[in-house]
Amino acid sequence: MKRFLAIALSVCAIAGAAPRKPKLVVAVVFDQLRYDYLTRYRSDYRAGFDRLLAKGAVFTDARYDHYPTITAVGHSTFLTGATPAISGIVGNSWFDRAEGKSVTSVSDGATKLVGATGQGASPRRMLVDTVGDQLKMASGGASRVIGISLKDRAAILPAGHAADAAYWFVDLAGGFVTSTYYQDALPAWARDFDASLPCQSYAGQKWLNHAIPTTGVSLCEAVTASPFGNDMVERFAELALDSERLGKRESTDLLAVSFSSTDLVGHQYGPDSPEMRELCLASDRALGKLIDAVERQVGPDGFVLVLTGDHGVAPIPEVNAQRKMPGGRLTGNPVAKAVETALTRKYGDARWFANSAETGLYLNLEALDSKKIDRAEADRVAAEAALAVPHVFRVFTREQLLYGQFQNDSIGHRVANGFFAQRSPDLEVLLDPYWVAGNTPASHSTPFGYDTHVPLVFLGASIRPGRYDRPVTINDVAPTLATLLAVETPAGSVGRTLAEIFVP
Ligand SMILES: [Zn+2]
Repeated sequence: MKRFLAIALSVCAIAGAAPRKPKLVVAVVFDQLRYDYLTRYRSDYRAGFDRLLAKGAVFTDARYDHYPTITAVGHSTFLTGATPAISGIVGNSWFDRAEGKSVTSVSDGATKLVGATGQGASPRRMLVDTVGDQLKMASGGASRVIGISLKDRAAILPAGHAADAAYWFVDLAGGFVTSTYYQDALPAWARDFDASLPCQSYAGQKWLNHAIPTTGVSLCEAVTASPFGNDMVERFAELALDSERLGKRESTDLLAVSFSSTDLVGHQYGPDSPEMRELCLASDRALGKLIDAVERQVGPDGFVLVLTGDHGVAPIPEVNAQRKMPGGRLTGNPVAKAVETALTRKYGDARWFANSAETGLYLNLEALDSKKIDRAEADRVAAEAALAVPHVFRVFTREQLLYGQFQNDSIGHRVANGFFAQRSPDLEVLLDPYWVAGNTPASHSTPFGYDTHVPLVFLGASIRPGRYDRPVTINDVAPTLATLLAVETPAGSVGRTLAEIFVP
């Protein structure tokens, strides 16, 4: 009996020491948010970023531990804790050998859009679950889980499989949509928002020397690629919060919001532009409004908020050249051309690629079969040719990644974390640091610091504010939230619980 009592007391002690469980988790991503955007414009922030930096647990060395650093991969990592090697989300799109075509991370032919016409989307290609899924399972479905973004993948992947809804924006429809995967009709509050013609409220407005058009299809396109896009997402998120009464019930709810306008503007103008500074200030304001709304809804002690970016971005190569920095631009896909030439020289003519060869090189297996060429040998020939192209940094073949035969420093490690045998290309080709492929002014996807280093801040009554300089990964977010919420850690998580931020 004494022993039983002692055990019971110690169990109570563990339970008593657990951090306070919030009523609402708010998981915020800004698409293409470099870490240094927080420090560069620190003195200009007055709202959300200011509050997070002053009152939150701020990680100064949070990184993605995978390649490629792009939207779908960052968003799938955020609340699953998984690397692409485990989640299966290896890119925004990839060549699906079984379907014989390029697919996106969320494309799903079995679904339809709701709120617009066209094929819908779902999380079915993501093999692992999210924190929201764990909340759903632990509460017998009572927790409400909602994802919101301008982009489909950024709304769908953080929310997870069992989510109540994911909402994203379709420029052509001029409103937020969802898919039949979640529900057959938009809720009344979302329909009303769309019916109010949300882009129209920004018609004719100016930001810096850019003007939003007053009508037409280009109106919504211009809104989403401006500070007003953040504002529109925030308004929709606030409406969801209120209409769905998030955080107002017995079980914990989760709202995932991803702001995409930072990415749309960042690609066009680059990280060093006045436009990007303007977007950072607009993001500060949008986040401030969202935190205020959350606080009104559940009180200052009722929520935990986590903020990150899904990836960073490299400077525009032409801007870098002016300041004597390394880097440059590789156009015309010389790598694919070199590989094609080498394979033809060795084996004769064939259609060597199974895909367009713009997003990784997938060899045409039928061509290899008909010529009785060993796939691994063809990959090696292709890799040698690719490596000979100027400004190619490293090449990884499928076989090297399958059997761990590569230079295993942090770069090799990140490439291996991004490799999923059934979905990844035959060849992963990396360019030198600060080199960019294609004609988009600024870009991202590399395993280098400017693309992997992102903000990570937690805020809430159960979070101990302060500056945390120890290196962490974004994979740590999911297990940290799971521990805080006292639910099981998502299946694919490779992160650790950031227990140092919990209020004892
Ligand atoms: Zn991007």
